Amino acid sequence: MAELLQSVLNTLDDQSAGAAAEGIHQPVQSFLNYIDGKWMPCQSGRTFNNTNPADTSEVIGKFQASGPADAEAAVSAAEKAFTAWRTLAIGKRAKILNDAALYLEQNADQFAEELTREEGKAFSQAKDEFLRSAQTFRFYATEAQTYGGETYPQDDPNMHVFSHREPLGVVTVISPWNFPASIPARKLAPALMTGNTVVFKPSSDAPLSGLRLVEALDKAGLPPGVVNCVTGRAGDVGPVITTSNTIRAISFTGSTSAGALIHRSVHLTTRLQMELGGKNPLIVMEDADIDLAVDLAIKGGFSLTGQACTGTSRILVVPAVRQVFTEKLLKRVAALKIGSGMTPGMDLGPLATEKQLQTVLDYIAIGRTEARLLCGGERLSGPEYDRGYYVSPAVFTDVTNDMRIAQEEIFGPVLAIIEVADFDDALEKANDTEYGLSAAIVTMNPRYMHRFTNEIQAGTVKINRTTTGNLVNAPFGGLKHSSTSTFRESGRAGLEFFTHIKTVYRGV
Ligand code: NAP
Repeated sequence: MAELLQSVLNTLDDQSAGAAAEGIHQPVQSFLNYIDGKWMPCQSGRTFNNTNPADTSEVIGKFQASGPADAEAAVSAAEKAFTAWRTLAIGKRAKILNDAALYLEQNADQFAEELTREEGKAFSQAKDEFLRSAQTFRFYATEAQTYGGETYPQDDPNMHVFSHREPLGVVTVISPWNFPASIPARKLAPALMTGNTVVFKPSSDAPLSGLRLVEALDKAGLPPGVVNCVTGRAGDVGPVITTSNTIRAISFTGSTSAGALIHRSVHLTTRLQMELGGKNPLIVMEDADIDLAVDLAIKGGFSLTGQACTGTSRILVVPAVRQVFTEKLLKRVAALKIGSGMTPGMDLGPLATEKQLQTVLDYIAIGRTEARLLCGGERLSGPEYDRGYYVSPAVFTDVTNDMRIAQEEIFGPVLAIIEVADFDDALEKANDTEYGLSAAIVTMNPRYMHRFTNEIQAGTVKINRTTTGNLVNAPFGGLKHSSTSTFRESGRAGLEFFTHIKTVYRGV
């Protein structure tokens, strides 16, 4: 693509020169920041490499190692663009989002392959992610057009009282690497449709997919400055885009620790929406369809190599079915195919980053001292695996709730089986965590379903469904340390965060 992110440089850099010289990979492309409608290098001229977690000899691209000055330029461009954008006809804003959605759909195969190469997930999941991002753009293009205020009955016949929704101003969007397209899409679309301008920082571990979203908006005719994207380390870019006086709100998805840090550093008046970590339970009751329970454990625990915030990490199972469940689970785990996301039929890819690999291996080592490892947990070797961050899926049993592997977010292919006495015990243990993102139960008993719905401390409640997954048109978010629980994302609820309300009393 000639105009790809404008001046893509097609250069070799030092770190990739070896691989390219061996003829393994194509020359490395450079990707630019997007500020005030222009693709530009960062002011220091420094870049960083992003590599393929399935084969770390492949450099996906060089990205701008932006600093505070670039972040400030992005914030000022967004501030300058705000008045014109908020007053642009909403139908015109919607057209831009719909056109951007079309661009994402038309380029879904290419973008999905890039996403697989930068993050490691299966190509089919990467493609779904871009199509879902397009769906999100379209959803908000329509939904926001009916999102307004209310009128209020009152006693004065010569007065009209109504509420009026307005955009906040310049908002910051910060996203993680595990869904590097769909998470920023569900923040950008409602922010833009409600008339805000945006500074967007994608994850340094998967920046390309976020840049593709921005490219789609640029191609669709987004006016300069309405979205500005800077790549770079959180420590270099973060302070400006979170604490500048111009920033009215921050929509952040990432770890609880980073969220807490940002939360402590922002101004009193900065509105926050934070979706954070999880430690999601799947309860298996005595009347469960065991094959379904196993299927949900596999999908919830190991799809995306366990790197979903809503991924299943604890399985709470009653004694009556513990053995049969465990046996069937182990059989299914043994059959899982591990390989690069581009390998047809693969079930598990690599971990996304070296840091994540180390975290997972560390927790497996901790788990070995606390509980009993039934399978997996090995770093894989061999020609297919040596250059990637591959770990075999691990299942621990005899886990108790006081253990670290039962309490701390691992974010990898590790399942902990915890025996529970009965439903009450399951519920108590499921709730015995600092997190509250997603929770599931497998049962046919309506009493369990009812109590689970009412008493589980989680923002997403699943019955006979996997802990993972959420709809574009339904609210999403966690409780406890999984979220600030201030505003929900997704669905119509996702629009609320990006507007404030004025109440107008108009007399005649
Ligand atoms: P992370 O380390 O917290 O980073 C998330 C994003 O925040 C990245 O773009 C990161 O930039 C940036 N960041 C970190 N510290 C910052 C700071 N002080 N100021 C400004 N920006 C900052 O999380 P991750 O490792 O990318 O993602 C995995 C985590 O996200 C897991 O805990 C997972 O549960 C959570 N997650 C939650 C949800 C949800 O909806 N609840 C969804 C997906 C993931 P750099 O990349 O430059 O460090």
